[in-house]
Amino acid sequence: MEEFKTIIEPFKIKMVEQIKVTSKEERIEYLKAAHFNPFLLNSDKVMIDFLTDSGTSAMSSNQWAGIMQGDESYAGASSWHKMRDSILDLTGHEYILPVHQGRAGERILYGYLGGKGKTFISNTHFDTTRANIEFSGAEAIDIAIEEGKNPKLFHPFKGNIDLNKLEELIKEKGPENIAAVILTVTNNSGGGQPVSMENAKAISVICKKHKINYFLDCCRVAENAYFIKHREEEYKNKTYKEIAQEMFSLVDGSIMSAKKDALVNMGGFLSLKNEELFIECKNLLIITEGFATYGGLSGRDMEALAIGLKEVFEPDYLHYRIRSTAFLGERLKEMGVPLMWPIGGHAVYIDAKELYSHIPVDEYPGQALVCELYLQGGIRTVEIGSVMFGKYDENGKLIPAAMELVRLAIPRRVYTQSHIEYVIEVFEKIMSNRNKAKGLKIIEEPKFLRHFTSKFIQK
Ligand SMILES: *Cc1c(COP(=O)(O)O)cnc(C)c1O
Repeated sequence: MEEFKTIIEPFKIKMVEQIKVTSKEERIEYLKAAHFNPFLLNSDKVMIDFLTDSGTSAMSSNQWAGIMQGDESYAGASSWHKMRDSILDLTGHEYILPVHQGRAGERILYGYLGGKGKTFISNTHFDTTRANIEFSGAEAIDIAIEEGKNPKLFHPFKGNIDLNKLEELIKEKGPENIAAVILTVTNNSGGGQPVSMENAKAISVICKKHKINYFLDCCRVAENAYFIKHREEEYKNKTYKEIAQEMFSLVDGSIMSAKKDALVNMGGFLSLKNEELFIECKNLLIITEGFATYGGLSGRDMEALAIGLKEVFEPDYLHYRIRSTAFLGERLKEMGVPLMWPIGGHAVYIDAKELYSHIPVDEYPGQALVCELYLQGGIRTVEIGSVMFGKYDENGKLIPAAMELVRLAIPRRVYTQSHIEYVIEVFEKIMSNRNKAKGLKIIEEPKFLRHFTSKFIQK
C-alpha cells in the first residue's frame, strides 16, 4: 500500500447511514433557528459532522457480532473477562476496572488522590481531567514544552512535557504534595500532538526518583504509537502495539476513554499496578458506577471494546487514520488556510484569528468560521477560542483566549475520501469569501461551558 500516493479506506461499507443533503437556503434558516451556534443543531441538519472524534467511531462487523454475544450477567460476565484480557494484554497492568467513560475513572482515581494542597502535573490536562482535579480541591498544572505553543513551528513531538519545569515544580511543591504526573497521549488539548517515548521514559525516571505516581491518559495511545514508529528512529522496526505496551510499562496506571482509540461509542477503563490503590478505587466504583465486573457498561459494550482495542493497532487502519487526517490538513495548508502545524492525530485546527483578520476577537472570528463552514457546506465544527475560554473583567470587557481556533475533529472510519475532498472544496469557497465573513455578538450565555449553549446574532 505504501508505494501509492492514494490511501484507500482499508474497509468496505456494509451498512450505510443516510446523510440528508441540504441546500444553502435551508442551512441559512437552520443556522438562524440555532442562534448561530451549530452545537444547537439537530444532527440531521448536518452533512459532515466534525464536532468531535469522541464516541463517533463506526464499529466493525466483528464488533457488531460481538454485540450479539454480550453476556449481561450482573457479576463475572464472560464479556468482562474478554475486555479485561484485552486491556491486560495491552497494558500489562494487573488491576483493571471498567468505567462508563473516561471521566468516571478520573473522578475515582484523581478524586481519591487529590484534595486540598495536592498538585497534579500534565503536558495538558484535558478539560474533564482538570475539572475533576479542581473539584477535589487540588490544583492542575500544564507544562508542555514551549515549542508546543507555537502553532507554526514544526516539532515532531509537540506534546512532550518540559522536563526542567517538571523537576522545578517537584522541588517547589515538595514531592509528597504531587498527587500524580499525568501524561496525555496524544496531547488532545494541544492539537492532538504526540509525545515521544524518550520523553515518556525520562518522566518515568524522574517520578521513580521522587516516588511520585505516574499515569497515562491513554485515549489516543495507538495514534501516538504511529507517530513514534515514524518519527523516533529506535522504534521504526517495532509494531504499534509493542510501542504502546512499552509506554504502559513505564507508568503506574492508566485511564482510557474508550470512545477514542478503542473504537466504541461508549466505555472506558482504569488500570493500576498497585493493589492497595486498586482496592480503594474499586470501592468507589461500586458506590457510584456499578459492580467491579461491569462498572456502568452493558455486557455488549464490553465485547465491542475488547475487539476495538485490538483493531485499532492494525497497521493499515492506523496508516489510513493518521494519513487521511494529515491529507486534509496538508491540502488546506497548500491553499493558504492558516492552521496548526504539524497536523496531529485526530483533528485539524484552523487559526481563525489569522484567517479572518478583519474580525476583532470580541466578535469571535472562530465562531464566525464555524458558522461559515456550516452555511457554505453543512459542515459542523467547534470553536476553541474566546467563546470556549473567554472571560470578562470587572467592567464586562472580554478577556480573550490565547488563540482563536476552529477544530475539525475526524470521526474514526466514518467519512470517505470524497467527503474529505468535499470539505476541501468548501474551504476554497471560504477562502474566496474570507473578507465578507461577519463577526458575532453573544446575546445569551450560560455561566459554564459557554460554547455548548450560547446564543449569538450576526454583526
Ligand atoms: C475524551 C477525553 C477524556 C474524557 O473522557 P470521556 O470519555 O469524554 O469522559 C479524558 N482525557 C482525554 C485526553 C480525552 O480526550
